[in-house]
Amino acid sequence: MSSKVQAIRGTQDMLGEQAERFQAVVAAFGRVRRLYGFQRVEVPVIEATAVFARSLGETTDVVSKEMYSFEDRGGEPITLRPEFTAGICRAFLSEGWQQHAPLKVAAHGPIFRYERPQKGRFRQFHQLDAEIIGSDAPAADVELLSFADQLLRELGVADGVTLQLNTLGDPETREAWRAALVEHFQAQREALSEESLARLDKNPLRILDSKDARDRIIADSAPAIDDYLSEAAANFFASVTAGLDAAGVAWTRNPRLVRGLDYYRHTAFEFVTDRLGAQGTVLAGGRYDGLIEALGGPHTPAVGWAAGIERLAMLIERPEAERIEVALVPLGTAAEAAALRILADLRRSGIASDMAFRGNMKKRMQRADSSGARYAIIVGDDELARGEVALKDLTSGKQEAVALDGLARRLAATIPRGGHSELAAGLADHAASPSSSTDRVAKAS
Ligand code: ATP
Ligand code: MG
Repeated sequence: MSSKVQAIRGTQDMLGEQAERFQAVVAAFGRVRRLYGFQRVEVPVIEATAVFARSLGETTDVVSKEMYSFEDRGGEPITLRPEFTAGICRAFLSEGWQQHAPLKVAAHGPIFRYERPQKGRFRQFHQLDAEIIGSDAPAADVELLSFADQLLRELGVADGVTLQLNTLGDPETREAWRAALVEHFQAQREALSEESLARLDKNPLRILDSKDARDRIIADSAPAIDDYLSEAAANFFASVTAGLDAAGVAWTRNPRLVRGLDYYRHTAFEFVTDRLGAQGTVLAGGRYDGLIEALGGPHTPAVGWAAGIERLAMLIERPEAERIEVALVPLGTAAEAAALRILADLRRSGIASDMAFRGNMKKRMQRADSSGARYAIIVGDDELARGEVALKDLTSGKQEAVALDGLARRLAATIPRGGHSELAAGLADHAASPSSSTDRVAKAS
């Protein structure tokens, strides 16, 4: 006997509520994205490994431990994207999107990282992503943060989530601060964890967000960036915070929030909740003015964020389940062809409808009931001969004979707007509009 096939560790299969939650997050993202004028962008799931190695930096956890890299059949080093930003910046350069700068784009889709799977942490997960490429204005940071804030509000999770904000300054600031940090850590190097000792040369800023108790005391007494901020960097941060206040976006300062890589400048932020245990960051981002240069492009300031769809999906209220409005129940083979025609009519009118592929009346009625449909349309030969069908309200149990003619229009009007019926009502209006618009024209003239 052959053994059963298994899903790859850290991947997910979603059906029912889990898939509906996921979809609700993506749908909210789509709505808010439009409100803020961010264009949809699609980029490949695979990129040359160099795209991520150069942009993320060889010393980061993602590049050193988490990438899904392989050689394709032609021997090309390829990596499944561990984030969107690098691929979007690669496209910005190779597609000549510079002409559209500042470019506001949004993407969502699967992301791959070889991590230890646990709650809220997967090997294939999914991100929402927003980027503004080609603007050095603090207003771009404000807009991007407002977008994130409104998204979390629309998802109904804003209450449990805090925006933590920091500045990493400009290169001048960063150099001075980094030197002061190295001096501070060097003086107490015997007390640091092994991991932080290794970071001291390569990535001293990362010691600041170490979770190791040995590092915490030393990190908490480390010099703060504020004492090293250049005037320009201080002004930039002041503009961002003033803009957030003006836009009504709540934030708190977290001077320990850092990004290890040199190309991160100025704004760094995370939206954090305490409702997901150790996986509390739902959305994170910042300004990465040096990244496009790292990819070999011209100096191009940019700012962006990414959010984990699964983490947001766990936080939201359970969305209303998708359901069918109308179930067709044909009585016998002859009625089945008529039922198929009605089914096609309803669906073309935007009414979500279904008919079991086979089964007798009893089976199909049971299925209609359990599907959560609002109505069943029972199609019998005698009724058909009179140009009618039986419409059964599955909530009240009431049943009436209705004319086949105009059935779809009538149902579209009965099924209230909202949820999935919005489409039905919209299409019905549209279908009715030629006559009503001629009416209006006639009255106007
Ligand atoms: P973490 O500290 O949780 O590892 P990160 O700093 O690696 O997060 P980013 O690279 O900033 O995360 O990615 C942005 C968002 O993507 C995170 O805030 C989180 O919501 C989500 N995310 C990151 N890694 C995973 C994962 N392995 N599984 C599910 N979601 C993830
Ligand atoms: Mg991580």
